[in-house]
Amino acid sequence: MSAFLQQKGLTMNSNKPFVCIHGHFYQPPRDDPFTGAYRVEPSASPYTNWNERITAECYAPNAERGNFGRLSFNLGETLAGWMEQHAPETYRRIVGDVRAYQRRYGVGNGVAQAMHHTILPLARGRDKRCQIRWGVAGYQHRFGTHPDGIWLPEMAVDYETLEAVSESGLWFVILSAEQVRGDLSAGAGPYKVRLSQGRFMTVFVRDAGLSNVLSFQMPDPAQARDWLNEQVQGRKPGSLTLLATDGETFGHHHPQGVDVLTSLLTPTFRDAYEITTLGRYLRQQPPVGEIEIVENSAWSCAHHLGRWATGCDCTPGCAHWKGALRRALDNLSRDVDRLYAIEARRCDLAPWQLRDDYISVLLGQVDGVTFLSEHHLGHLSTIAQRRLLSLLDAQVYRQRMFVSCAFFFEDLDRIESRYAIANAVKAIALVAYATGDDLTGSFKRDLSIALSERTGRTGAQILQEILEHEPFGSLPQGDMALMRPGALFPVA
Ligand SMILES: [Zn+2]
Repeated sequence: MSAFLQQKGLTMNSNKPFVCIHGHFYQPPRDDPFTGAYRVEPSASPYTNWNERITAECYAPNAERGNFGRLSFNLGETLAGWMEQHAPETYRRIVGDVRAYQRRYGVGNGVAQAMHHTILPLARGRDKRCQIRWGVAGYQHRFGTHPDGIWLPEMAVDYETLEAVSESGLWFVILSAEQVRGDLSAGAGPYKVRLSQGRFMTVFVRDAGLSNVLSFQMPDPAQARDWLNEQVQGRKPGSLTLLATDGETFGHHHPQGVDVLTSLLTPTFRDAYEITTLGRYLRQQPPVGEIEIVENSAWSCAHHLGRWATGCDCTPGCAHWKGALRRALDNLSRDVDRLYAIEARRCDLAPWQLRDDYISVLLGQVDGVTFLSEHHLGHLSTIAQRRLLSLLDAQVYRQRMFVSCAFFFEDLDRIESRYAIANAVKAIALVAYATGDDLTGSFKRDLSIALSERTGRTGAQILQEILEHEPFGSLPQGDMALMRPGALFPVA
């Protein structure tokens, strides 16, 4: 190794163990699917909503300290889009720091995130691929390079998800120690997980114990590095220890978190460890051994994904509504997909590839008409073009329905589940506009067995309330109906 490279910090030769701190930066989306507006959230006072408050407590100060240029992180695409619009200064700092890291080390310090924070093992194969490809496209759009790895929402994993990650040109994922089986004596690894056809996925394994100290018993800033020094002392020189937790831990959940993170990320020659990031470490250290994953596991539910599927002991009270809501959304998806696929095939198109590509419209890279002409559809009549674009838009809202937070909490009658139903209403409206088929009735029937224990209301009643807030009822007439301003959420 040349002295020049070592001086620039570009080699991994070290007589110390390495530490990587990964922050998962993400907030449940709260935008009204009909207006794009964010609600006023009095609980976030003195800020207008929680995104603004968490920006002030966490995203902005961490960006100002340059922490996004030192840690490993993922920034959820829905949050990134909000930040670009509503906190542009913070957004620019983050993007600038990540691009500088890329220039310096030839590899980015960020990883992608599945676009709408869907629990991927619970999604069908083509939806897994769509969520992953959209997340990758979002990362490329913001940071200018293809990511090497991806954050799986809630770390939820199965082999089909890893296959989809691999097919999307990504090298690695992050899992927690309790989600894998095998010899973990090499710390964070990375390790190999065997896929089909002789392929492998690289897996970094987080140290759940140390990560949880940051999440739940964060040390004082003055003692933070001493704490970490003590933890990693004796670990093999050159080995990797991974601490991964919610990014909001640093400043929002713990006010001292910004100082702690800054301190941990800037060790001196006196400290017992050096800082690295996952992509950078992987370039120097290929996977060390083979492990297996525990399928249908996640970092925040020990019950086979029950938290987002059928309900489990993670949340108190009766959780039957979770299965009922998921079934309603799955059934609606099947109908929305069927009508979209008919239209796409009528235009002689592969529907799911076209949907994957539609991310360029979502990111504002091209408009719908340009998108169609790029796909050799410029010859279609105006009406046929609008029909297809409406059905593609319906696919976007139908993806948004499956955001994990809709199922995460203890009760149906909350803003998170309401958000899923509101997005379903928007998908239904777009399909009705394009095809004349009204899917409201069957969706409502399915939702009638989803019951809130707290308020006694059913999903069907929540749906009805959302529909009544919208003056057009269940069958919109023309473009204006889709654009009509109207609060889908109760006025705060
Ligand atoms: Zn659980």
